[in-house]
Amino acid sequence: MKKIHIVSNRLPFSVKEEGEKISLEASVGGLATGMKSIYKDYGGTWIGWSGIDSNTISDSKLDNINGLLQSEKCAAVPLDTQEIELFYEGFSNKTIWPLFHYFAQYANFNKNNWEAYKAVNQKFADAALEAVEDGDSIWVHDYQLLLVPEMIKSKKPNVTVGFFLHIPFPSYEVFRILPWRKEIIQGMLGADLIGFHTYDYERHFFSCVRRLFGYEISFNQIHIEDRIIIADSFPMGIDYDKFKDCAQNVGLKAVSEKSELHQELDKYFLASPDRKLILSIDRLDYTKGIPNRLRAFARFLEKYPEFRQKVTLIMLAVPSRGQVEHYQQLKKEVDELVGQINGDYGSVNYTPIWYFYRSLPFHNLIELYSSCDVALITPVRDGMNLVAKEYVASRTNNTGVLILSEMAGVAKEMGEALIINPVDDEEMADGIHQALTMPLEEQRARISFMKERIQRYDVFKWADEFVKSLKKAETIQSDFLAKRITKELSSKLIAKYSDSKQRAIFLDYDGTLAHFKKNPQDAKPDEELHTIIKKLTSNELNTVTIISGRDRETLERWFKDHKVNLICEHGVWLKMVGGQWEMLSAVNNNWMPNVRPVMENFVDRTPGSFIEEKNYSLVWHYRKSEPEQGELRANELKDELNTHLSNHNLEIMEGNKVIEVKSGGINKGVAALQFLSNQSFDFIMAIGDDWTDEFMFRELPEESVTIKVGLKHTKAAYKVESVDAVRNLLKQM
Ligand code: UDP
Repeated sequence: MKKIHIVSNRLPFSVKEEGEKISLEASVGGLATGMKSIYKDYGGTWIGWSGIDSNTISDSKLDNINGLLQSEKCAAVPLDTQEIELFYEGFSNKTIWPLFHYFAQYANFNKNNWEAYKAVNQKFADAALEAVEDGDSIWVHDYQLLLVPEMIKSKKPNVTVGFFLHIPFPSYEVFRILPWRKEIIQGMLGADLIGFHTYDYERHFFSCVRRLFGYEISFNQIHIEDRIIIADSFPMGIDYDKFKDCAQNVGLKAVSEKSELHQELDKYFLASPDRKLILSIDRLDYTKGIPNRLRAFARFLEKYPEFRQKVTLIMLAVPSRGQVEHYQQLKKEVDELVGQINGDYGSVNYTPIWYFYRSLPFHNLIELYSSCDVALITPVRDGMNLVAKEYVASRTNNTGVLILSEMAGVAKEMGEALIINPVDDEEMADGIHQALTMPLEEQRARISFMKERIQRYDVFKWADEFVKSLKKAETIQSDFLAKRITKELSSKLIAKYSDSKQRAIFLDYDGTLAHFKKNPQDAKPDEELHTIIKKLTSNELNTVTIISGRDRETLERWFKDHKVNLICEHGVWLKMVGGQWEMLSAVNNNWMPNVRPVMENFVDRTPGSFIEEKNYSLVWHYRKSEPEQGELRANELKDELNTHLSNHNLEIMEGNKVIEVKSGGINKGVAALQFLSNQSFDFIMAIGDDWTDEFMFRELPEESVTIKVGLKHTKAAYKVESVDAVRNLLKQM
């Protein structure tokens, strides 16, 4: 089996130094847990930084550490003091982190940091390239390594690359602020699969790809020249069983076995059984909304005085990035707020907030999760938030209430929590009140719903699903490559062509013979195309037909000097060489007065869009509109047309940035078959780029050479990348 390697900023071990003795300690964080089985089952290498500053340690010790890591199948990427400062603390944590969490005002755009980020990403990519062999897969993690996918892909295209972003991906309006926005997206697009926690982050990413590069996106696939990239959401889970089992054990412990913290918690309840505890746990980070939470708690005590003396907020703030200025300011603000609230509402035997500025061991966390009636998790922005899931998993008796910020990724999955706006003090204060007075029945109903979900989609399932999709991405890519016309295949097709005596060649126009232009009338044939068609039609064995959605007048004007047949308006009209226009099917256009006003309304509301009126169809073009608005409106228009058209025999066709309405029962497939009906050919070829051409690919005899331009799924037997590739093929015929 091919291997799966993992690349992340940190390795899943931390290094312990006791004098000269060095040992490794396995990390228990979410990522390390999720990757455990992948790492074991697929026998790959884990590439990452050990957490050691290579300037502060002797070479012999570093060798010793590297040796220990190697025996754990880890390859360490060494970072020195400057790299840590510029790449990690600098660009990763002072630029990407704040910007992606919508703290644009905190983001610093320092060119040196960016240069270091690029260089260190290259170091990670080089280490990965050393470990990987053709056909293997690599899973790259998180915002510190956004450039690594492309750095790997460009050197080893046969390696399947997955990338998962563990933080939010911001809206384009925020992302665009980044001076290196294009480089970042390009870096990510080196991956074959890009994963996000939520669909919102995914669609923000699509929006950035579309606006910055104009790549075509269909459903969740991004089409770039000879590659397909899939983006999808995979909400990260926790090791559910570990939390559940440990919480069950906590509940069974005898008093003497309980930790000091647990005994203190018991004492608190003993003093008065109607006391309640609210829990708040997070790293001390400005994204976590801690000051807002404290202010809301104060507001709660003010608004609901009957709860004073009875409710305590346990606030665990884990120290984080203490060297960074904004974190130091935050610490000061939180310290002061806690002091102020305890001063305002406390008494000799009541402290409203128990504040711990440290991290706690796992069993203490579980004790807190088990003992607290309410978890108050209110980040102003959070990619996922695992604490919320851990709290629910630890509620063995199904009681407890989770208050959750709508800005946390986890809120998308935990609809049964009390969802609040984290900057709305009033709503949060009322939420706390609602939580504390919620009937047990309701608590159980809510918690058990959420539990079921996080048990089913735990961190192992998350990793499995990602790997499954990575394999699927590999298949999609190889399916595409299998149909692609290689040099060898093209020689075979040319040979088949040369051996035949009677050839029918159907060529779509836009996107096949000619590139799209913003204005359709600008896409007229150039010199090269005229030469190609001239050569093709001068061969007496060839019957060449341009088969297009264009109107009669345009095609006739453009090809009047060629011995080429024309089928236009998707099969309504046919004009044989030297003949007159004839209608292939009886159609009418008396429906147009009903449909035109509907489309006009969309033109008014969608800047850049316009209507093209053909003899038997109406087309709404939105190529010149702002891309996302265009797509959105196209969907609306289809919807609206469907309701208007139910009484007519009409068809709505979605082309490349167009919505076309035409009489039903007519398409390029029907037209091509009709064209072939009284003649016999020993070589039939059809080339087209959009789904209107799929009718041809489907209807034509099986032995026909059908060729799709572009990467999308197709009934055609072969694919070519572009208009230029079509022209090259035709030049050889
Ligand atoms: N955590 C911990 N020790 C502590 C407090 C928290 O190990 O003293 C863990 C907690 O169990 C959770 C993680 O830290 O798994 C925090 O993850 P989350 O997604 O909530 O936030 P992040 O810190 O990744 O932004």
